[in-house]
Amino acid sequence: MKIFIATSNKHKVQEFSQMFENAGLNCLVHGVDEIDGFIPPVEDGSTFAENSFIKARALKKFVSDAFVMADDSGIVVDALNGAPGIYSARYAGVDGANADLSNNEKLLKELENVPDCERSARFVCAIALITPSEDEFVFEGKIEGFINHGAVGCGGFGYDPLFYVPEFNKTTAELSAEEKNKVSHRGQAFKKMVEFLKKQKV
Ligand code: IMP
Repeated sequence: MKIFIATSNKHKVQEFSQMFENAGLNCLVHGVDEIDGFIPPVEDGSTFAENSFIKARALKKFVSDAFVMADDSGIVVDALNGAPGIYSARYAGVDGANADLSNNEKLLKELENVPDCERSARFVCAIALITPSEDEFVFEGKIEGFINHGAVGCGGFGYDPLFYVPEFNKTTAELSAEEKNKVSHRGQAFKKMVEFLKKQKV
């Protein structure tokens, strides 16, 4: 089976490739780097699912004979009425290498006076899948936790050092990549997609 992923991030392509292999699906994974003329679309949807479909549909225009998938994810904080949500990547308005640090600082500041019991949050991921015959499906995953009062752990990326998971008594930045993949929002959404693909006998 051949699948194109709407990302130019080689790390993500490799990670998904590994996840397909671990799931026992024989899958050739390609990124948008291999497609001439692809321009990333503006992600102006209002949900993770909408944004994942915007990316997948833009890519599908260039791919006729393979599956296309796109993922979109972020962190949803209850005390902030769901923010940063779909704006997680640029919450602090900073691009590039300092984005994660600035986003984490902003989140801690916004929650400065919020007590522990009101710091509930979740990571959410939507994966849009378009089949070669243009049928569309979406798979969603989430992981529940709380926002810490400071950064703990040095693994992962993004908001991981702030995201405390009671089940492990650790932040997601303290989990190994393998542990995190098993329980994460992306891992859960991916698992649902793989179950679907296996039923299609692709
Ligand atoms: P993306 O849609 O997977 O690129 O995620 C958008 C943003 O959400 C990232 O830039 C991170 O700030 C945040 N995010 C998504 N997934 C994770 C995660 O697993 N850990 C920490 N932050 C994440």
